[in-house]
Amino acid sequence: MSQVSAPLAPGSTIGVLGGGQLGRMLALAAARLGFDVAILTPETDSPASRVAARTIVADYADPQALAELAGLASVVTYEFENVPVAAVQALIGHGVEVAPGALALATAQDRVVEKTFFRDAGVPTVDFVAIDSAADIVAGLARLGAPALLKTRREGYDGKGQAWVADAADAEAAFARIGGRPAILEARATFRRELSVIAARGRDGAVAAYPLSENHHQDGVLRLSRAPADAIDATRAEALQIAQRTLERLDYVGVAGIELFEDVAGHLLVNEFAPRVHNSGHWTLDACQVDQFEQHIRAVAGWPLGLTDMFAAAEMENLLGEAVLDWAALAADPTVRLWLYGKREAVPGRKMGHLTRLKTGASGV
Ligand code: AMP
Repeated sequence: MSQVSAPLAPGSTIGVLGGGQLGRMLALAAARLGFDVAILTPETDSPASRVAARTIVADYADPQALAELAGLASVVTYEFENVPVAAVQALIGHGVEVAPGALALATAQDRVVEKTFFRDAGVPTVDFVAIDSAADIVAGLARLGAPALLKTRREGYDGKGQAWVADAADAEAAFARIGGRPAILEARATFRRELSVIAARGRDGAVAAYPLSENHHQDGVLRLSRAPADAIDATRAEALQIAQRTLERLDYVGVAGIELFEDVAGHLLVNEFAPRVHNSGHWTLDACQVDQFEQHIRAVAGWPLGLTDMFAAAEMENLLGEAVLDWAALAADPTVRLWLYGKREAVPGRKMGHLTRLKTGASGV
């Protein structure tokens, strides 16, 4: 992946593993640049498939489906981090480039591997211990202090598969609460705010980061992002350095989202990174010269990265579950930019869309 390939010509097909809203917004951005998108997803009638040129409905591990996608696409990317690494390897075996590569995917899929990667890269994270049993938790608490946060190593998202461990007496019960699966025990981070940095690396090795976003969660799900976060210069410089180190070490191509904890002095710890476009970067759609979706398509297509400058401060709010039923009122609000994902059912907590409010400070041209 480190080679600088010729830029992919419009008219080529970009493959996307995953059919959710991120795939949908990637497909829209790709279409604007003249590309066709082929989606591979196990879901019928997925949000992405309804705006993509082609959809293959199959399991990610289906060898025939992967061969078909490799036949269609000049490059393949993914929109969520739990696609099997074997699927990416199979695509590479068919001679198609996958960006970001298998290393980034494998690193993000396992919290112990991920935190070890950051530690080796000299990027600060909370202290942690790998867990395979309740006895490991007791030993881990002795080192990390209590309470500590137990998370499944794999397939946790939006705060799922996590349990606080109050003390050693709670170890057995906490292990049961996460299903007795291989886990990581993390020291409790004391932080003032949660921030994220969305950054991209091109095939030529150029790195471009967006201004920091300040993120607010509810029940483990992102609800609100504000950008640019009001941060001191040193914090912004730290975030940029973290992004650069991470992307360079992974020989990364594409956009990544890095979630950060900020302490009272403005220093940063990495919580986790997502090897894809990120919910806390959706405001870039309306507030930046080149948004994160176009940036990702540019990177994987071997095009030069675009400008990440903001032309207005922005606040992005997720529309979770039935909040989307207010679409008519939101559509009538001239301060709102509305993005709806075309999901058929407003299940509680489901990400149905988002809206952005810009703060331009000007009342017109
Ligand atoms: P995660 O799934 O790792 O993003 O964690 C979900 C949320 O739990 C984060 O957004 C934080 O609010 C919180 N959290 C995660 N890890 C820690 C930690 N080590 N200490 C304190 N809070 C944490």
